Amino acid sequence: MQRSASLFHTIITTIVVSLVGIAPIESIIADEVNIYSARQESLIKPLLDRFTQKTGINVNMVTSKGDALLTRLRSEGMNSPADLLLTVDAGRLYRAQEAGVLQAVESFDLNNKIPIHLRSLDGQWYGLSVRARVLVYAKDRVQPSELSSYEALSEPTWKGRVCIRSSSNIYNQSLVAGMIASQGMADTETWLAGLVSNFARPPAGGDRDQIKAVAAGQCDVAIVNSYYLGAMISSSDKTQQDAASKVALFWPNQKGRGTHINISGIGVTRAAKNIESAKQLISFLASDESQQWYADRNNEFPVRDTVQVSSTLESWGSFKADTINVTELGRNNAEAIKAMDRAGWK
Ligand code: FE
Repeated sequence: MQRSASLFHTIITTIVVSLVGIAPIESIIADEVNIYSARQESLIKPLLDRFTQKTGINVNMVTSKGDALLTRLRSEGMNSPADLLLTVDAGRLYRAQEAGVLQAVESFDLNNKIPIHLRSLDGQWYGLSVRARVLVYAKDRVQPSELSSYEALSEPTWKGRVCIRSSSNIYNQSLVAGMIASQGMADTETWLAGLVSNFARPPAGGDRDQIKAVAAGQCDVAIVNSYYLGAMISSSDKTQQDAASKVALFWPNQKGRGTHINISGIGVTRAAKNIESAKQLISFLASDESQQWYADRNNEFPVRDTVQVSSTLESWGSFKADTINVTELGRNNAEAIKAMDRAGWK
């Protein structure tokens, strides 16, 4: 009796140990990861499928607009099923951070793969691709030698010749936030007043529409994210191709602080239940293989310049990027919006 009781005990102990101790807990509970994504499905899904193929971890994705996802995360609180938030613009990631819906995760691998100026300093979000806000000019009316910087577009010679989208757009808010960080508020206000007075028309449409307006002769220069031009060049739509062929890209501020850049990025949510899988997915997205695919597919730049870029991007030549920490773009967002408002930028 004594012996069989102790045998029974041994068997039970063995089962418990093998369930809890020996089998890695992660592999039992973390065979999936849930992501809220503000990217078009086609721009990320194949990469997530590849991750599942490699790791056996299933990825469930909800796609929506960035601001809507943030609202959803806020209202769901700790009950949110999301482990990760993927969105564009450091301004938005900073808002998510401020809203308390993200948490800091530490990883030597991530810190190693993602340059320090492209992530939040406490690990709440990590940049996955780089987008540059560039000048696009009409090849038949502007010589590249006439262009230099964002700042110079406020000079009287550009009166009625500049196209840019609305100040409600976060890309422009981040551009101005970056200007505040590097030039200070007084110079930024002066620049804004000059720039707004040079607008060819009241801001309307997205970045592609500004490129089309330059091509159509409504303005001579526009400030846009470079990937829109890349997408138009490789578009199957003849109208977009034609418009893209009439313009060229200019890298602003090469003699000074460098061209303004921003990121698409990702952060682990505060409510995350699959933290290890989530970290594994971020690491995968930051790997050379993913970086090349993701940047190519989006016509953006990898976060490391050691990763090869597409022939379209290569044709634009290399450029000096502003190395300000993108957190500053979020930190100065509210001030930027107020300054744009005061300048009458609709
Ligand atoms: Fe965009």
